[in-house]
Amino acid sequence: MKKKIIIPEPLDSEAIEEFKHRNGFELKILDRPSRDVLMKEIRDASGLIVRSKTKVDKELLSIAENLEVVGRAGVGTDNIDVDFAEARGILVINAPEESLDSVADLTLGLILGICRKINLAIFRTCKGDFNRKGLVGFELQGKTLGILGFGRIGRKVARRAKAFGLKIITHDPYISGKIQRTPGVEFVSFKELLQNSDIISIHVPLNKKTKHLISHEEFALMKDGVFIINTSRGEVVNTDALFSALQSKKVAGAGLDVVEEESERCILIDHPNVIITPHIGASTFDAQKNVSWKILEGVFDVLHGREPVYPVNFPKLSEDIRQIYTPFRELIIILARLLVVLNQEAFNQIQLNFPEALPTDLIRTLSRDFLAIFLEPLVSTRINAINSMKIAEDRQIQIVESIRIGKDFEKEIKIQVKNNKKSNTQIAGMIDSLNNIHITMIDEFMLDFIPRGNIFLIHYEDMPGMIGKFSTFLGKNNINIAELQVAQNRALKTQLMMLKTDEKVSGTIIDEMKKIEGTRFLSYYEL
Ligand code: NAD
Repeated sequence: MKKKIIIPEPLDSEAIEEFKHRNGFELKILDRPSRDVLMKEIRDASGLIVRSKTKVDKELLSIAENLEVVGRAGVGTDNIDVDFAEARGILVINAPEESLDSVADLTLGLILGICRKINLAIFRTCKGDFNRKGLVGFELQGKTLGILGFGRIGRKVARRAKAFGLKIITHDPYISGKIQRTPGVEFVSFKELLQNSDIISIHVPLNKKTKHLISHEEFALMKDGVFIINTSRGEVVNTDALFSALQSKKVAGAGLDVVEEESERCILIDHPNVIITPHIGASTFDAQKNVSWKILEGVFDVLHGREPVYPVNFPKLSEDIRQIYTPFRELIIILARLLVVLNQEAFNQIQLNFPEALPTDLIRTLSRDFLAIFLEPLVSTRINAINSMKIAEDRQIQIVESIRIGKDFEKEIKIQVKNNKKSNTQIAGMIDSLNNIHITMIDEFMLDFIPRGNIFLIHYEDMPGMIGKFSTFLGKNNINIAELQVAQNRALKTQLMMLKTDEKVSGTIIDEMKKIEGTRFLSYYEL
């Protein structure tokens, strides 16, 4: 059956045309659909692509039985209930990098506009007034531009600003390494940036720490006659403080693509020394086209089972980390598949022991991968790596992630399933130098086998003739043994056998084998 992707908002027509013909998918373009139509169409959709208008709320997400991914053609996800999507195992992705050049261009536009009073000049000429009085501006050459936030946009602004001969200083407490050594850019403290800049351009994200980052106190520290540019988020600058600073001439001018109150209620709109644009940073044909291609590609990737490039509710891994991740992911998935059968008792704690060299983010991602498989039999709803941690939390299953230090554990993951701190069952596996996975321990039994093929794990009484019984039984049923290993627990007088067969084994034969006297537990896997 074809996977349906619904698109209720306009996307670039060439991109739609290109993706429309991909096998196995149906693109359903809805032209300004009513809520009812949207609610009807979402029921059997696998993908949904929206811009900023469609409200992707609890109600919509709840009835979307097959929905795997919501793509936001753009950056902000304010219109999407991301947490609820995560709880439902629905991935949210966006296209955050496609409009960065457009925002950086606009930033330079606002700098030039406000320093040369282009707004006032246009206002006059529109009225037929060609008088230049009061329209004297400033050159950029030799002035100091303070870039607050040296992220993706901040860096693009710096590159452009250099061409205008601006001296660039920046403040970003979270940047280190190579970026801090960007030629022609000096990293300074927040206070130094405020005190030394002729123009301050703001490029930080909006969060609890950056709300009103620029307020009365900060304006007081600035040079007299400073210019303020904000293309980040309105709430980063306290509007009242900026208004006072403009009135007192502390601030000579402000170029703002974003303000706290994006409406006619904004007290800055008719100030002669302020240029306000209506949040058009990303509004270029180029950005919109790029965003359409990127989000369609992203949604198709997810529906093909590939990892998303710009996940919003799932950790994003860098290329180097991804290379470490892939073999460990295979290992933890195998451990989960074995353990989900081996653990037969109730549990309320899972302890995952990782090698010390694995980065914290990766550990969390691997734990999510494990839980998606291990908890599956417990839940009636869809579970995957997006919502598995949340499902564990909801069920009050304690997830403990520990690090094991030492050379012996460099490539090993060990998992213990516990109930009230008492171990039910445990398993360990490692990756060898050729990236092969080995199972090295099951409960108290030490083994070493590659978990590939048709595999029996048989726990039985340690008494003479048991190995013979299992092999004779398989032989009688014309099933050839490919590999066999036995580990012994002298104290408990039991053994664990790992037995691989050349052929797949039917359910009836497995059931018969379980009846062999002395068998405590038998499980069979096709891996
Ligand atoms: P980014 O995450 O790449 O960069 C933000 C940088 O700010 C990071 O390097 C971070 O370390 C730094 N930072 C965080 N807190 C800081 C602080 N207190 N002081 C100094 N630096 C701090 O983000 P980006 O893609 O460059 O976006 C920057 C801003 O532009 C965001 O607010 C974003 O929402 C906004 N934006 C606006 C438009 C628009 O249409 N105007 C479009 C896209 C993005």
